[in-house]
Amino acid sequence: MQTKARTRDLLIGGEWTRANEYISVRSPYNDSEVGRVGKADPEHVERALERAHEALSSPIPAYRRAEILERAARSVEENAEDLARTIALEAGKPMKAARLEVSRAISTFTFAAVEARQLAGELVPMESSPAGAGKLAFTLRLPIGVVGAITPFNFPVNLVAHKLAPAVAAGCPVVLKPASATPLSGFNLAEILLNAGLPEAYISVVPGSGSEVGGMLVEDERVRYITFTGSGTVGWGIQERAKKKKVALELGNSTPLVVHSDADLEAAASAIATHAYSYAGQSCISIQRVIVQRDVHDELLERLVPKVEALKVGDPLDEETDVGPLITPEDRERVMDWIAEARRDGASVLTGGELENGILRPTVIDGVRPEMKVSCEEVFGPVASVLTYQDLKEAIELANSTNYGLQAGIFTRDLGNALAAAQAMQFGGVLVNEAPTFRADQMPYGGTKDSGNTREGPHYAVREMTEERVIVLNHP
Ligand code: NAD
Repeated sequence: MQTKARTRDLLIGGEWTRANEYISVRSPYNDSEVGRVGKADPEHVERALERAHEALSSPIPAYRRAEILERAARSVEENAEDLARTIALEAGKPMKAARLEVSRAISTFTFAAVEARQLAGELVPMESSPAGAGKLAFTLRLPIGVVGAITPFNFPVNLVAHKLAPAVAAGCPVVLKPASATPLSGFNLAEILLNAGLPEAYISVVPGSGSEVGGMLVEDERVRYITFTGSGTVGWGIQERAKKKKVALELGNSTPLVVHSDADLEAAASAIATHAYSYAGQSCISIQRVIVQRDVHDELLERLVPKVEALKVGDPLDEETDVGPLITPEDRERVMDWIAEARRDGASVLTGGELENGILRPTVIDGVRPEMKVSCEEVFGPVASVLTYQDLKEAIELANSTNYGLQAGIFTRDLGNALAAAQAMQFGGVLVNEAPTFRADQMPYGGTKDSGNTREGPHYAVREMTEERVIVLNHP
């Protein structure tokens, strides 16, 4: 693999193709150029779509798809350090977190390989009605067609893997438009798949403008399935423009964690100190709102604040760093404005809120009210907002007081409370005595309300990327 090759041409139907223009990929930490990638013109996207469409007439048998994915998983493992370094460089993600992301991608490819081997239709119980008597029926699961994958900046390896691996498992050619800030990792994965034996026409990588390149994928009739991870504004706009095609949306969140008075407060404080600030809070399930029962508020914060202050801020390539930069200076300014607004409206910043060498320090804001931006909007920064409640009913109302619904969590030692909260919280996933940031790649993962309309994880995504055809045999 050539992770050291810092200039990437376009990948059009498996062929490296010179672009007319190149995008400079810059480190969010020090703004140095860490790579360049081809910027796709409409003609490039058109060719990628043509090649992908043609690929459908050369299907790959399931056992070969599984072998490709198994080889890809091994190759990700062998190249783990290079892949993690590329993430650290282009995304500004600290190495510790970048390595975890790469290890997750190994699972994603491995689970997708299992799905490829097991993908099957089902026998339909025809004799269950008089109309079906004398008939045998079963279903086939066939590739849905060309997949258009549009991905965000924040997990440039594993979220791209969550698109490419199920597409390969399902037998679908895929055209990937990676985020312009972090496109290098997507090329690395596509190259791994090609080297693992994926037929060339099955993969294209076309970085470029979201509205132009992404828009072409969304509107082209040859694309049968759009899999999108990113912001709600872009995602729901795609759904409107996609007309007849199937659209899978994985969007944002304002992740709540309820801490009840009977909880293990030390465990809760540790979970918050880790998962509100990992990758500077730029994960869709970073802990954002800490909803704590009033009588343990002080004790929780006494445990939490020193842990947050102990986090090391700095260079993502430094092995010790816990918290690096936000993806752009504009995002940093936006988050600082929201902190200032919360302060003006009566909240108090217990720690953080200022810059250290240009990086926003991990911040804890107390006395937050649900209508403040730091609570009801997605912060996507290293900020935990603390809200208090009297009883569990109020905690659940606070947790639900957002348009988002991806994952939520509760720390409590009472099983009854845990189950009551799990049933009443309107989220795609509820984590009990675990950070709501937890995700394992075999889980169904996705949101309700404004957070999305699908479940990812190879087992679920592969089914979404196939169509069932029923075959009925008459045997009178
Ligand atoms: P974004 O929505 O700005 O961009 C995502 C992708 O969409 C990029 O590749 C971008 O170029 C493309 N795009 C932009 N405009 C487009 C258009 N008009 N048509 C088609 N494509 C277009 O998101 P981002 O800032 O890269 O990522 C952060 C967001 O992603 C956050 O809201 C976060 O919560 C969300 N996210 C969700 C999940 C999840 O699994 N639910 C995971 C990670 C990130």
